[in-house]
Amino acid sequence: MSRSKTVKHIFVTGGVVSSLGKGILSASLGALLKSRGLRVTIQKYDPYINVDPGTMSPYQHGEVYVTDDGAETDLDLGYYERFLDVATSQANNVTMGRIYKDVIDKERRGDYLGVTVQVIPHVIDEIKHRMLELAESGKYDVIITEVGGTVGDIEASPFLEAMRQLKLQLGAKNTVNIHLTLVPYIKSASELKTKPTQHSVKMLQETGIQPDILVCRSERDLSKEMKHKIGLFCNLSDADVVGLRDAETIYEVPLLLRDEGLDKLVLQKLGMKAPADAHLDDWKEFSHKVKFPKDGTVRIAICGKYTEYPDAYKSIVEAFVHAGASNDVKVLIKWLRSEDIEDGVMTVEDALRDVSGLLVAPGFGSRGIEGKINIIRHARESNIPFFGICLGMQCAVIEFARNVAGMDAANSTEFVKKTKYPVIDMMESQKNVTEKGGTMRLGSYPCVLEEGTKPYKAYGKQLITERHRHRYELNNHFREILSEKGLMMAGTSPDNELVEIIELPTHRWFIGVQFHPELKSRVHKVHPLFNSFVAEAKALRNERFHQEVNGTVGTIS
Ligand code: GLN
Repeated sequence: MSRSKTVKHIFVTGGVVSSLGKGILSASLGALLKSRGLRVTIQKYDPYINVDPGTMSPYQHGEVYVTDDGAETDLDLGYYERFLDVATSQANNVTMGRIYKDVIDKERRGDYLGVTVQVIPHVIDEIKHRMLELAESGKYDVIITEVGGTVGDIEASPFLEAMRQLKLQLGAKNTVNIHLTLVPYIKSASELKTKPTQHSVKMLQETGIQPDILVCRSERDLSKEMKHKIGLFCNLSDADVVGLRDAETIYEVPLLLRDEGLDKLVLQKLGMKAPADAHLDDWKEFSHKVKFPKDGTVRIAICGKYTEYPDAYKSIVEAFVHAGASNDVKVLIKWLRSEDIEDGVMTVEDALRDVSGLLVAPGFGSRGIEGKINIIRHARESNIPFFGICLGMQCAVIEFARNVAGMDAANSTEFVKKTKYPVIDMMESQKNVTEKGGTMRLGSYPCVLEEGTKPYKAYGKQLITERHRHRYELNNHFREILSEKGLMMAGTSPDNELVEIIELPTHRWFIGVQFHPELKSRVHKVHPLFNSFVAEAKALRNERFHQEVNGTVGTIS
């Protein structure tokens, strides 16, 4: 195998508008290169001053993606892991805040030996040092670095300067700059327009960076003439202008980019030979299953507090795409705002009438909690498959305590400080914590499954590891009484101190997990619990369908 010893770097920037999908482009290119036998990882540089996104509201930032090593990171890392099936870590996500914090900490320690600390060279050097850190591990042939924000933003300019310097430092053959832009289609003129791309490239050139490859996102295919025109104005040969038309599903993007020859182009620019050709049969099969499911649709409700902003639940939504494909169905999500249930804007019967399963989402704070508890009650009593994640599991415990175990007004001390039945309480290790950033129980922990339970069957093994992000837990003081009343502790930490999974064995599928299984679902490795939950929802859909055909009351969903 002709593996080059020098680690190669691919930088991905974006222009014209945000949300063009730099994350998907990076993840797809990574998947293409991985399929050619290269060892690839992706890192994201974010321009904001927060040290990490852990302290940001989901409305500001979307989901916080937690890595095995407990880093709270950008949701793009979720795409990297899902597409590449390679675990990321704290080193894969660096914010401008973290860079400044490190520089200022060094200054306070006296590390700069009396010099004036400045953006150039000190901040830029810190960025460059970080950007090369993963390369030093010896684990990768190629590192893709996605630079957050849009070219032209003042706050991202130090990252661009670091990129410019790295090309000089590492040599042109060892770095490739890819710039993603938009080529909008103007309906009234029936034309694709190249001017925004020209402007964006000009702005990038002003920073001293000439893109090596342009990827142009557009509604329609770019013609040869269009590519020539863009190349001419952006100082590129036609072959270096790659079209990326809108895809029906993001899982098709690796296929589209392969058809455009992006992997070949990148390798050629890096003077690299890959051990193999791109084998994308698994991607083809997967995206076909996503687009044309054999067994129709299954509707599942997600009840949460940030439902107007589905990015807050990105990994859950994607885990349902994976589980849908593995069950030959498309999962249609019905979003339920927990406050609407709480305020009676929607009854629990109406909310769940046309769905075959309910997932209650993770979250923080008391807003909408009673709505979640009410809807869980309805799912439990009506034998509708229920999946509670983190806060969703905690709400299920509260509901069971109140309505089955006779503990009136049972609650979590997160919502009511002094309550007679604090069935969910703050973890001992959290009680003296005062700082908010990075202080929860975070990252990967082992869990032992109880034999014979549904989770045990789903995972097919006893010892699992899953990722966490929480401060509260099931209060061990109430474990015995809740178990006696029928709530099964289906999974615990190996020392049996923390309950990680609850199950109602008498129900067709009622499982709550203290961890975040959605973070470990992969394109080619569906998460066992999502898989099993969707299978059960599909079974309920089929039963209802047969009842309907036979004239018994029921709804098809
Ligand atoms: N707010 C709860 C806790 O801190 C649940 C957190 C979550 O859902 N991620 O324990």
